[in-house]
Amino acid sequence: MAITRDQVLAWLKAFIQVIADNKDYLTELDSAIGDADHGANMHRGFQAVLAKMPGMEDADIGTIFKQTGMTLLSTVGGAGGPLYATFFIQAGSKLAGKMEIELEDWADALEAATAGIVNRGKASLGDKTMIDALSPAVDALKQSVAEKVSLSEGLKRSTTAAEEGMKATIPLVARKGRASYLGERSAGHQDPGATSSFLLLETAMKTWSN
Ligand code: ADP
Ligand code: MG
Ligand code: MG
Repeated sequence: MAITRDQVLAWLKAFIQVIADNKDYLTELDSAIGDADHGANMHRGFQAVLAKMPGMEDADIGTIFKQTGMTLLSTVGGAGGPLYATFFIQAGSKLAGKMEIELEDWADALEAATAGIVNRGKASLGDKTMIDALSPAVDALKQSVAEKVSLSEGLKRSTTAAEEGMKATIPLVARKGRASYLGERSAGHQDPGATSSFLLLETAMKTWSN
């Protein structure tokens, strides 16, 4: 089973809605350990992506990702915006020219996207960032490809891994981003970026599993 270009657009549209629905929640998480803008940042960026979607109707999957990343780059400041921009641009490079993708392509794209964030933000696993949700999800996807499980099973495993990684950020002391300025006081709060990254993977699972 492959993921078509139209399904990629459906996922993007669904994620834009999920961000709108979780705008206040993400900002609330960021108010505890950051500057209370993660929900607003994501919402502003993805509303700009929504406005660009009519021009994406005939684009290949790589182009859809690249245009999404470029739009985020030009509309969202701070740390999270450029890092998500990198995520989409790097994934787009892996998916260039494709009109449909397999689980393996998705695993390769997310691996490149996550590597792009690490390259730019220098965070490691356990630093209490979006990497804590993304990196375990990439591992789960690679493992799923190796075991030749179904698309829906692979998406499910990656979502579960991201959710566990997201929850595991709660007790951590932040070592990257604004939350790191709080030192020990950052412990006891879930990382906002890890939460939006989990939502991105969960939305892929929900959109592509049936
Ligand atoms: P800002 O911190 O500039 O206000 P946001 O609030 O939009 O930006 O995003 C904050 C999120 O960005 C954090 O919760 C964290 O997950 C992520 N983040 C911050 N710095 C880094 C980094 N160096 N590497 C990876 N992710 C990071
Ligand atoms: Mg913030
Ligand atoms: Mg900010």
